[in-house]
Amino acid sequence: MGRVCREIFEDAVDSCNSIRCTSFTNCDNIRCNSFRNCKWWNVPCHIARAACVVAAAVARAACWVARAACVVAAEVARIACIAAAGIALAACELVNIVLDVIGFIIELILSIPIIGGIIRTIINWVTEIIWRIVGLVDFVASLVGIRPRKKMYFGVIVPPVTPIASDADIQRQVDAVIDIYDQTCNIDMIFTGICHTKVAPPETPLNIACDAGGFFNDWWLVGSYFEFASATCKFTDSFRRVIGLGAEIIVFIVQDVTPSATTNGCSFGSTHNYVVVEAQSTDQEFVAAHEIGHACWLPHDGDPNNLMNDITPFTNPTLTNLQISLVRWSKHCVYF
Ligand SMILES: [Zn+2]
Repeated sequence: MGRVCREIFEDAVDSCNSIRCTSFTNCDNIRCNSFRNCKWWNVPCHIARAACVVAAAVARAACWVARAACVVAAEVARIACIAAAGIALAACELVNIVLDVIGFIIELILSIPIIGGIIRTIINWVTEIIWRIVGLVDFVASLVGIRPRKKMYFGVIVPPVTPIASDADIQRQVDAVIDIYDQTCNIDMIFTGICHTKVAPPETPLNIACDAGGFFNDWWLVGSYFEFASATCKFTDSFRRVIGLGAEIIVFIVQDVTPSATTNGCSFGSTHNYVVVEAQSTDQEFVAAHEIGHACWLPHDGDPNNLMNDITPFTNPTLTNLQISLVRWSKHCVYF
């Protein structure tokens, strides 16, 4: 929500700054162009010529005065416009902070093991279904190739565990996420930063089972931990995560993802706002991008060049028309 306030404010300031005085710009062109060819003996003509020149000079001076008044008035209007936009921004931010505090409190409740986890699952399913229905037209438009620029927010949370991925390794994956969704889906992936949370995980090493058991672990301590870390680490726009629309996808860096040694990331699908990536795999460029694909409803794909193939690493991964449309249809992917 806060980001929408700022976007609207920036647009409004651009409009304000376009307020200019466009009148009285040709004062210098006011000249007496008549009586130019008086014969030397035609005295009335010379008198009329003199009167014309004086009248033109007076009109020119009046024009300059009007021009100055116009410029001042435009500047006053421009400053008033920016001030009004600033007041609107402050009001919008205030509403946003109130919503985020409400979102934060709801997320704290949702951090309670079992009961919070079950409520969380219900909320995520309901919002998922609602926003898929709302976005149906956009999905069909995307299928036929109409894909205006959309945006999606994502951030990284690093728990205090070792081995820990370096920020440089994480950044490589972040860049890969931004590149692939920009180039294939016309989505502006906006990165909200890496947060090193001080909240210790409930277990070390932090191993995530990427199977049905892991899905139910999400209702227990690990899921509670992810919810609590999200609420405390990513307070801004926490209300978005509750309502689902435009919710930031959070990438947690964990020590291990099981079952197999080849599994280096996990997503529990489009009903979860977070995905996990192994610390050791952050040298593999496209793991986070692949998991974010799952979070947008993409299943695995058999094509070895496809981003959603289950074998990593990928080089120049692709997405099909249907996959692109499914990602753009996700509740995480919005216009505003
Ligand atoms: Zn996968």
